[in-house]
Amino acid sequence: METSLHDALKAARRSAGMSQAGLADRAGCKQSAISMFERGRTDVLAWEKIVRIAEILGTDIRPYAAHMIPTVLDDGRILKCCTNFACERNIPRMIADRLMVRPTFLYAADDADTFCPECLAKMISRCPNCDSPVKRGNGCSACGTPYVVCSIPGDVSQVANWVAARRREIRDAMAMNEEFRTDD
Ligand SMILES: [Zn+2]
Ligand SMILES: [Zn+2]
Repeated sequence: METSLHDALKAARRSAGMSQAGLADRAGCKQSAISMFERGRTDVLAWEKIVRIAEILGTDIRPYAAHMIPTVLDDGRILKCCTNFACERNIPRMIADRLMVRPTFLYAADDADTFCPECLAKMISRCPNCDSPVKRGNGCSACGTPYVVCSIPGDVSQVANWVAARRREIRDAMAMNEEFRTDD
């Protein structure tokens, strides 16, 4: 009787007497995302959002988290990010003629390895250069080291073209993922 994560959260929502729209409202996402998620498209919601939904519904998702991401969710969980340049959750952008990649973040326990739910790369919780804790952003706020090392050769115009193509590629792949925002 293996219940899946989306079935468990769907059942929890129903027993809480909450509509998809009501849950979406509280979790800060679209009703359509909840709908797709409940039908098994667990990739439409970012992990942090799934955690938030589970909190709202009072559901313990650690048994599922262990399956989806090998770590334990707890109050002491910390921010980690994926530093894989090829990861489809890591979104490239041009900032003042410089290629930057915004990594994907999630909260996870400090004392366990965490692997990116997209590319399975081991995620980092500390700056590889100065050991400062990972914070949201393109790179370390303490020493300026980018979290994702970019390796596209060529001049600025070629890089810009590559970024545009890569963003389209990622947008297509993650069309339903509301975490993708072109906020530049
Ligand atoms: Zn990744
Ligand atoms: Zn640093």
